[in-house]
Amino acid sequence: MASLLDSFINRSHVAYFSMEIAIRPEMRTYAGGLGILAGDTARSCADLELPMVFVTLVSRAGYFRQRIDDQGQQVEEADCWKPEDFCEPLDAQVAVRVDGRKVWVRPWLYVQDSPRLHQVPVILLDTDLELNAPADREITHHLYGGNDAYRLTQEIILGIGGVRILRALGFDIRTYHLNEGHAALLTLDLLSRNRVPEEDRIPGEIPYDVTKVHERCVFTTHTPVAAGHDRFPYDLVKNLLPDLVEMDTIKRLAGDDHLNMTRLALNTSGYVNGVARRHAETTQRMFPGYHVHAITNGVHSGQWTHPAFAKLYQTHIPHWQHEPESLVRSVQLPDDEVWSCHRAAKADLVEMARKLTGKTLDPDLPTIGFARRMTGYKRPLLLFDDPDRLEAIAARHPFQVVLAGKAHPSDSAGKQAIRELHQLAERFAGKITCVYLPDYGMDIAKTLVAGSDVWLNTPMPPYEASGTSGMKAAHNGVLNLSVLDGWWVEACIEGVTGWAIGEDGGKSSDGDHAKALYAKLEEVVLPLYHTDPAQWRWMMKRAIAHIACYFNTQRMMRRYVTEAYFR
Ligand SMILES: *Cc1c(COP(=O)(O)O)cnc(C)c1O
Repeated sequence: MASLLDSFINRSHVAYFSMEIAIRPEMRTYAGGLGILAGDTARSCADLELPMVFVTLVSRAGYFRQRIDDQGQQVEEADCWKPEDFCEPLDAQVAVRVDGRKVWVRPWLYVQDSPRLHQVPVILLDTDLELNAPADREITHHLYGGNDAYRLTQEIILGIGGVRILRALGFDIRTYHLNEGHAALLTLDLLSRNRVPEEDRIPGEIPYDVTKVHERCVFTTHTPVAAGHDRFPYDLVKNLLPDLVEMDTIKRLAGDDHLNMTRLALNTSGYVNGVARRHAETTQRMFPGYHVHAITNGVHSGQWTHPAFAKLYQTHIPHWQHEPESLVRSVQLPDDEVWSCHRAAKADLVEMARKLTGKTLDPDLPTIGFARRMTGYKRPLLLFDDPDRLEAIAARHPFQVVLAGKAHPSDSAGKQAIRELHQLAERFAGKITCVYLPDYGMDIAKTLVAGSDVWLNTPMPPYEASGTSGMKAAHNGVLNLSVLDGWWVEACIEGVTGWAIGEDGGKSSDGDHAKALYAKLEEVVLPLYHTDPAQWRWMMKRAIAHIACYFNTQRMMRRYVTEAYFR
């Protein structure tokens, strides 16, 4: 272990900081899309042998395990895991002053392997140590749990604790990549090491060399939704934050009224990225005066491809895992083999749904999959906007629906949507089979994105920054039916890679989008499935060829390296 760690320390010069990371299903260190992206990034970095190290919190109590009671009510349970089952404790320890107390932080090491035998280190920060006061031991327990004070304390540990742990271990980090604003406090540590000498200061200017920090920081912002941008009141900040940089400077960099983590990251990072072209444009409008680049997200091709398709690709396109761009040749795959791989993926979904819910899906019916965080802008109820109309469509063109997703414990509208979806499923019994798979996570996602026929996405534009589940679906020949927002603006070729719901741009109400969705289902999608299997297979191959070849984290990381890290 010592020599492996030494080799990591000697070669890793880019540190990727993320509040969550989906490394493997048993490690409960993720909640949703942001963590999945970080995990796929780590997997691609290992494949590409990039000199990176990942830093996150150990989140011993996870996000939460979702159970759904008889009333369709989400019940949240602790979702604990044991770092010692998967990680090695490392021999380093740093203190961070929080609220005037010393909080000790220790790292765990997880080694992310690649089928190509390369590895990257993931450092998980832990405060659950005997040296710490009982309350401080819980700082790294609950992902996205607790109040503002708890969250700010976690972000102090992630940002400042993380930078110090890397230094204590001996890493020589040149570039810091902030995956979302959560880790932005690390820039205060960097600033404090770049004070302008007294004699060189210019009155009225910040007494730090911000340019030096700029050169070293890359920031990826992930959402235009206000609740996704952490803001902390300065009363709280003054109490909790260690005394690294004077308040005056912090206010100039992070905002006058609140410490806004996005502002802080924007003002200290020399490269700012939105996660899709449309999202970069939206971010640019939200924060005038910054240049927002657009390296569009991807998914790790090997991670999200069903074993049957993986075998098919391996036979026909042997280098697909390392060079997913070669999947552009998927148009040449034999139709019948593509279909039999899809049947295998669908059989797995039918089996999983039976195991988890006791309900039986019909492998011959078109299956609409919809799984995402249950929250307002994702509009999980849009498909059910007019239940009578939906029933009438199903009477002529039968289909079934598989749903999944968690609502944040404090998102009461999201939880209400889960209840309504369960009521709707009951109402449709005997007419449209609707199953809701509880506890959406990596494992369920893998089976669900591969086994559906149509992957539905109905966000309210422009709030879907990118979205990645549709990219996973396309790796398995599943056709996307989505509102034009996020990544789909770049990927949709109507009738070729999938279908759009409604028009791009312009103001559309929920009702307009629901009507457009019904029309597309009734007139195009469902009749095609039922009457023209050859054309459906033709589209499946186009979806793989045009989407999987581009929307992958191999391409994404090659771009981050050449455009953001080496700029
Ligand atoms: C891929 C994935 C997500 C993100 O999906 P979106 O399309 O961005 O909503 C969230 N949760 C899990 C478990 C996933 O696998």
